Amino acid sequence: MLDFSLTEEQLTVRDVFRAFAESDVRPVAAELDRNPRFPAELFLRAGELGLFGMRYPPPDGTGADLLSYLLAVEEIARASLSVAAACSMQSLMGTFFIQRSAQGDVRERLLAPALRGEVIGAICMTEPDAGSDLFSMTTRAVETKGEWRVTGQKTWVTSAPVAHMFTVFARTGEQEISIFLVEKGAPGLQIGRDIDKMGVRASLTSEVSFDDAPAACMLGERGAGMESLREILCEIRLMTAALALGVGRAAFEDALAYSKQRQQFGRPICEFQAVQAHLAEMRTGLEAARSLTLWAAWSSMQGVDSNESSSMAKLFASETAIDVCDRACRVMASYGYAKEYPVERYLRDARFTLIGGGTSEILRGNLARGLVR
Ligand SMILES: Cc1cc2nc3c(=O)[nH]c(=O)nc-3n(C[C@H](O)[C@H](O)[C@H](O)COP(=O)(O)OP(=O)(O)OC[C@H]3O[C@@H](n4cnc5c(N)ncnc54)[C@H](O)[C@@H]3O)c2cc1C
Repeated sequence: MLDFSLTEEQLTVRDVFRAFAESDVRPVAAELDRNPRFPAELFLRAGELGLFGMRYPPPDGTGADLLSYLLAVEEIARASLSVAAACSMQSLMGTFFIQRSAQGDVRERLLAPALRGEVIGAICMTEPDAGSDLFSMTTRAVETKGEWRVTGQKTWVTSAPVAHMFTVFARTGEQEISIFLVEKGAPGLQIGRDIDKMGVRASLTSEVSFDDAPAACMLGERGAGMESLREILCEIRLMTAALALGVGRAAFEDALAYSKQRQQFGRPICEFQAVQAHLAEMRTGLEAARSLTLWAAWSSMQGVDSNESSSMAKLFASETAIDVCDRACRVMASYGYAKEYPVERYLRDARFTLIGGGTSEILRGNLARGLVR
């Protein structure tokens, strides 16, 4: 694929993470899916390569641009969406509010090790009865004697079983959501059951409950929770689009290679028009999704509001990834259905990109509301 508008620096970042993905991530991707566990060594290596501090300005991070970050995420996702999902959680949501708002001792103890991958961060927003409708959350934080204490039930918390710090969204008033940092070991903090998932299986997820658990600090202004979340929402959507592009590319490349080597009726199956149509549609969808994602990132870097463009990119890239992974399975037929080939994993993993960063239904609704407003 031609990288028409990328700078030398962006291409270097892409190449560094491509090399990491090929040499370290791809060889263990299938095993991590079969026997899910947190990919601790890969996580530390990603930290060494600077992934977790890319989006933060010096002295905390390197202040790399959004395009560079997305290229890095896409390369890791091409090898393993599980590993990429765990890493991108750390580099955005798991550390964002801490980098932005934590002060003093908490910041000193946690931020630098988190950006090296030694301290793992999780974000607790979703609740059993509050998914897309986050504002309906019931987790509460109450201040007593100058200390905030959190009570409530969170679910679908990525990296929770191994996390050292939890960024928790909680109600501090009827119409008020605030953000808190709760550290591992806080009394009343309990990691609940693991959620056994269809895909992204090495990106561990579980329930987390808080029973009058003391917060280490409030992150940001009281009541500014949803507004602060909106500040990184576009980036979360674009990061999810990059995850989708990575897994989609992997599926396309595998299907193309297989179609050239698999012989039926005395010729390679890539010579059949029906198979060619799949390959052409896959490639076209991916190029369109990639152009849309990079354009949305580029416009955001120019200071343009990317609410609409990031929604379109995330919607299109994730739906395209499903289509591409599904077509890859069709091209490979029974071998696309077999565990010994990775395409069935790609299809399972890709479904995550339909959900994280806002479901397709929610994004379509937001886009349409913007159009008819
Ligand atoms: C692998 C994985 C990791 C995750 N990690 C985290 C994490 O680390 N931290 C965290 O807080 N959360 C996490 N989540 C949760 C995720 O953010 C939520 O699953 C997501 O917000 C959707 O919520 P829900 O699953 O409860 O679906 P619901 O909101 O219940 O939606 C169910 C269906 O209704 C549709 N729907 C809902 N509202 C509307 C509407 N207004 N218009 C049209 N359709 C609508 C949805 O599109 C969907 O089809 C994770 C989820 C997954 C799958």
